[in-house]
Amino acid sequence: MGRFGLIFKSIAKGRVTEKYPFAPIELPEGFRGKPEIDPEKCIGCGACATVCPPSAIQIHVDEEQGYKTIDLFLGRCIFCARCEEVCPAEAIRLTKEFELAAASEEDLHQVVKLKMAKCAGCGRPFDTVRHLQFIAEKLPEEQKPMLALCPDCRAKLASKILTVAARRHR
Ligand code: SF4
Ligand code: SF4
Repeated sequence: MGRFGLIFKSIAKGRVTEKYPFAPIELPEGFRGKPEIDPEKCIGCGACATVCPPSAIQIHVDEEQGYKTIDLFLGRCIFCARCEEVCPAEAIRLTKEFELAAASEEDLHQVVKLKMAKCAGCGRPFDTVRHLQFIAEKLPEEQKPMLALCPDCRAKLASKILTVAARRHR
């Protein structure tokens, strides 16, 4: 194609470059930007942290204060969306935000702090109140009392019940 052909072609095509950053850029559907946790929806189940490939989400338990924190660190995030896929409460989702420069590392953390429930048996904080409520909604009525116990106390109680039942059948 000759020089004039090229000029006519480019005029017909119009501008293909974007004005960004001087004008907002239109992002395609499904663009994976900054993940965000909705602190009102998060139940503290930890599923997002379990599947996060680079461990950008960390769970910390403060037994003394009775709190669980979910710490999302954008500095490690690879925007894979695994967290969004597995979240049972639709609490974490990837936004279209991609301008993530920050003045300090602290600004790249989102921390959600959730209150934990104490075990009715041993008194140890063992799960978030919200997670227990979430499970209770799905359990049959007769199984709900078991949620007041931590896994260790539940196991001990189950073993006691089995021992008593075995004695009765002797
Ligand atoms: S998008 Fe991927 S890397 Fe980022 S927090 Fe979610 S699971 Fe982790
Ligand atoms: S509710 Fe969702 S965001 Fe909260 S800890 Fe569970 S998976 Fe993560």
